[in-house]
Amino acid sequence: MLPGLPWHVHDPDRPHPPVVTPAPASSPAAPPSDAIVLFNGTDLSAWQSHYSTITRAGRPGPVEWKLVDGVVEVVPHTGDIATKKSFKDVQLHIEWSAPTPPVGNSQNRGNSGVLLMGLYEIQVLDPWENPTYADGQAGAIYGQWPPLANPGRKPGEWNSYDIIFEAPRMDGDKLLRPAYATVFFNGVLVQNHQELMGPMIYRAVAHYSAQPAEAPLVLQNHNSPVRFRNIWLRELSLDTSH
Ligand code: MG
Repeated sequence: MLPGLPWHVHDPDRPHPPVVTPAPASSPAAPPSDAIVLFNGTDLSAWQSHYSTITRAGRPGPVEWKLVDGVVEVVPHTGDIATKKSFKDVQLHIEWSAPTPPVGNSQNRGNSGVLLMGLYEIQVLDPWENPTYADGQAGAIYGQWPPLANPGRKPGEWNSYDIIFEAPRMDGDKLLRPAYATVFFNGVLVQNHQELMGPMIYRAVAHYSAQPAEAPLVLQNHNSPVRFRNIWLRELSLDTSH
């Protein structure tokens, strides 16, 4: 028997993973067959406006960000956007570009964020010749873990994140298992199954408290016109041994 698992080595009864059709090799970022497409360039119906704790703007309702030429662009002072559907463990693909020409410095240049469950931020920030604190640069788990590398592209060019996120397991306010994130930034590993200390918080040490088992994916409005495209995810069920 394999330790801790209900299977023998080479067990013929061990369930096989589902067959998934990969995207054509010529466009590796396109969604595989079992993805939930959240934004394909034409349609924001999977999203709604969401209150931003940073800019204190936005409320549930239609998205107020701009849809132009197949991309969605942050409109300052209109709140975050959140998926209508809630998620738990996911594999997420998302592409983003920092505004060009760049405006501002450090955290005020091309700041946005991918907030898993609306709580756990993978930082989006202009990564090109834009010094800032390490745990706040693009690809960071904001306020906790700097990225392992900075493979970021120039303003106006497209960057990609491929994120594997494992939601925390909670029993009320008791933490059973923390959240973990693995992040590829333009195909380069920048977070390797990194344990998260808790939800994103500014200038404080993160800690866990009671939260829903699943929650919407949120894109942050930090009053910088960052652009996004090609957003899809695959729901994972990481509770079951496979
Ligand atoms: Mg941010």
